[in-house]
Formats: sequence, structure tokens, C-alpha cells
Amino acid sequence: MKIICIGRNYSEHIRELNNEVPEEPVIFIKPDTALLRNNNPFYIPDFSQDVHHEVEIVVKINKPGRAIPVQFAKDYYTHISLGIDFTARDLQTQLKNKGLPWEKAKGFDHSAAIGEFIPLEEFDAPIHQLPFSLYKNNELVQTGNTQQMIHSVDEIIAHVSEYFSLRIGDYIFTGTPAGVGKVNAGDVLIGKIENREILNFRILN
Ligand code: ZN
Repeated sequence: MKIICIGRNYSEHIRELNNEVPEEPVIFIKPDTALLRNNNPFYIPDFSQDVHHEVEIVVKINKPGRAIPVQFAKDYYTHISLGIDFTARDLQTQLKNKGLPWEKAKGFDHSAAIGEFIPLEEFDAPIHQLPFSLYKNNELVQTGNTQQMIHSVDEIIAHVSEYFSLRIGDYIFTGTPAGVGKVNAGDVLIGKIENREILNFRILN
């Protein structure tokens, strides 16, 4: 199982980090040891003073494939969830400035929180029009809608599968909207797709 992540997929988030709008999806991968499930608490790692939350729609692959044409991509998933792509922003900035890979800032243990997977038909909106949100200590901090994606879920699957064969059980984090920010010990994060609560867990240190 692998965790494939897409960066810079919502233009307002690109602006808040002063990044360039990419022509193709920006891809990075987290190892399986990054998984954090069942609303277990997230422990802030010692090596960062600035861990950010990035709330994202997560797609679970349910059919193996490679070089999948975009028009068939919808046949490769039936369930989605919400996840947090935890990012050690201070470390990521240092690595980016040196032109080095981001892995340590993005792929550390428990940096990929994922909620329960829900069948797509249980949501009112289709996959390309889904609203989602993140609350920190009951305050709304991030809100997005998959229709704001620069690259749609199906375009992401087509592009990713040109480079990486997809297997059953792989996860794809599809990018975060604006509003990323620091988490502190004692915070409670609650994430929703439409009005359905998918994530509800604590930040500890
Ligand atoms: Zn992200």
C-alpha cells in the first residue's frame, strides 16, 4: 500500500504559500508508516516547531491499473474519506530552499491521518462537487469544494498512473484548499464532508 499525495491543487492555497500554479499535478508519496487511523491522537514530532494541518479529500483505489485513461478513472474507486496531510512547514521550507526532496517534512510517522471510507453514493453531491471543511477547536479554519480543484480526481488518477502502478488499497490525497495553519498540543480537529463528520481527533505532544 502506498499513499500518493497531490500538492498545489487549489489556487487559493497556492497563493497563500507563494507557489507557482503547476501545469501538471505535483506528486509526492508518503510511506505506509505515515498512516494515522481510527481518530487516534496526532503527536507533534520533536523536529518541528511549525506542523500544519492540510485537510484533503482522500480516494481509495479498489482496482489495479496503470496508464489509466481519464475517461475510465472513475472505475478505479468507490469510496472516499477525509484526511490531514500533516506538514512540518519549517522543515519543508528549509528543504525547498536547498532544492532538496520534501520527504522528511511530509512523510514522517503518522503524518497521514485518514478517516473512515464512505461509499460515494452516500453523499448528496457527486465527486467533482463535494464540499468539505476542517474545524480547529470548533472554529472553521479550512473550507473547500472539489469543483475548485485544478486537476480533478479523474485527471489525477490518469496522471499518477502513468508513473506509478496503482494497486488495491492505495490512497490518494488530492490536495488542500486555503487556510492551512499550525496545530498545537491540546487542539481538536474535526473534519467534515458535506455535513458528515469524518475526522475528530486530538493533537498532543
Ligand atoms: Zn497536502
